This record gives sequence, C-alpha cells and structure tokens, in this order.
Amino acid sequence: MSDNKGKMGESLKEKTTPKNFKKNPIKGTKFTVMVSSAKGGVGKSTFAINLTFALQKLGKKVGLLDADIHGPSLPKMIGLNEKPKSDGKLLFPLEKYGAQFMSLGFLVDEKTPMIWRGPMVISAIKTLTEKVSWKDLDFLIIDMPPGTGDTQLTFAQDVKIDGAIIISTPQELALMDVQRGIQMFDKTKIKIIGLVDNMSFFKGEDGKKYNIFGEGGVEKTAKQFDKKFLGQVPISTSLRESADLGLPLTYKEPDHEISKIFSDIANKIMQDVV
Ligand code: ADP
Repeated sequence: MSDNKGKMGESLKEKTTPKNFKKNPIKGTKFTVMVSSAKGGVGKSTFAINLTFALQKLGKKVGLLDADIHGPSLPKMIGLNEKPKSDGKLLFPLEKYGAQFMSLGFLVDEKTPMIWRGPMVISAIKTLTEKVSWKDLDFLIIDMPPGTGDTQLTFAQDVKIDGAIIISTPQELALMDVQRGIQMFDKTKIKIIGLVDNMSFFKGEDGKKYNIFGEGGVEKTAKQFDKKFLGQVPISTSLRESADLGLPLTYKEPDHEISKIFSDIANKIMQDVV
C-alpha cells in the first residue's frame, strides 16, 4: 500500500498537467464526464451505463466510452459483440437503445487477456479518445479503469474533461482509496462533480435497511474534502441482473425506484456541468 502511494506521488509530480497545457476536447460531444473509482469491483461500470440511460431519459444524447482497457465490461453489460465499422481513419461507435458505445472489448476477442505494457496502453487510449467518430452527443461518459496510475494520468493530461464522478462502496478500505482518487483529480485539475456511495445498504423484505459494508463513510469523505455527495445506490438484485442480461435497468425500467436514484444523480450532474 505505502509502496503504491509512493509511486503515485512520484508519477503525479512528474506528470501533473502543467499550467496552460492545452487539452483536446473529444470531438462530437459537448460535455465529457469521467466515472472513476480508485478500487475495482465497486460498481463503476454498472453506474456508468445506468447513468448513460438516466441522462438519455432526461432528453440528452449520450455516448459511453469503456476505457477500462484491462477488463472491458461494456460488451456484456449492453449485450453487444459486433465489431465497430471503420473508414480506415475513424472508428464508428456501435448504437443500441438510442445511445452510442465504444469499447476495446468490441475490437478484441472476449477471451483474449489484455496484458499490455505502458506504451501500448497509451496508444490504446489515444485510439479511444482521438479516433472515434461520436455523433452529436450532449454527454460522453467515460468508464475509466480503476486506480490512480498511468492510464488515468494519460487521460487527465490529454483530454479536456468537464468533470469526474468518484464511485465507492462504504468500507474503510475502499474509502482510503477514494482519498487517493480525490488527490489525483485535484492535482491534475479535473473538477470533481461529486462522490457516489454504491452498494450502500440492502433493504430487506421487512423494509429495514442493512448497512452491510458500513454506513455514511463516502458522504463523510466528501465533506472532509469539501466535495459534493451525489447520492446512495443500494445493493439491488434488479441492478445486478439487468447488468448481467445486457439490458440496463434505467433503460428497461425507468420508473424503478433505483432508476429514480440515477435520474436524481443525473440531474445533479447536469446542473453542475451544463
Ligand atoms: P467495477 O466497474 O467497479 O469493476 P462493476 O460495475 O463491474 O464494478 O460491478 C461489479 C459487480 O457488482 C457486478 O456484478 C455488478 O452487477 C455488481 N453491482 C454493482 N453495483 C451493484 C449494486 N448497487 N447492487 C448490486 N450489485 C451491484
């Protein structure tokens, strides 16, 4: 752990965006929002895809870029496994349910492990950020790889980002990583729109809330670092099943109580970014 911290500190010092550094906006979209988590498995991709359709429900044209190059989960979550078309220069995103999607998972065989070295990672990111022909989007959501390493810094340096959302679960261990995430965005001058507490509780059949992973930690961390708290997404079988079936809950059942939580968060994001 301390080793990791040291490494991040060093690479941040070297790579923190210099003043006046010109970042390129992603073509074809008005606003670009990152969904990130300092730790894997906290529900970042589930959040990103459900946010996509929550924003769409609010009348926006939305695209989702799965930048989780080591473990792309978008093809499964949206039930797509076609190869995107290309004109030799640009890649065309796949479309489903009215939204646009791009993932390295569409380009590489599902069973191929993505074990890439630094320069390959950087070139894959460049392809995803510079060579995709998004069409008239209001929002591009980027599902980031977990962590605070080189991949994240490459994005932070090269691409104009309008804001970032940090997803966490409430365990102490996850919260320590959240602090590192906050520091990374602050140092790379990317605005943090706010923090989301995922899998924050489970509501039993008796109507009682069970705080399986602890209570209130993400909100407390947000306060401590003077960031906005965007809301709590409970542990939900519907959310998990819909992700497994490739039919996101906010698209399939926009009036579901969980979808309403996503709408509420999407509204807060719009107010902050637009
Ligand atoms: P990450 O992108 O952070 O690695 P995922 O979005 O892939 O995490 O989620 C990991 C697993 O947890 C998936 O099986 C997903 O369906 C499940 N999951 C995520 N959020 C919730 C939730 N709020 N309730 C129930 N299951 C969830």
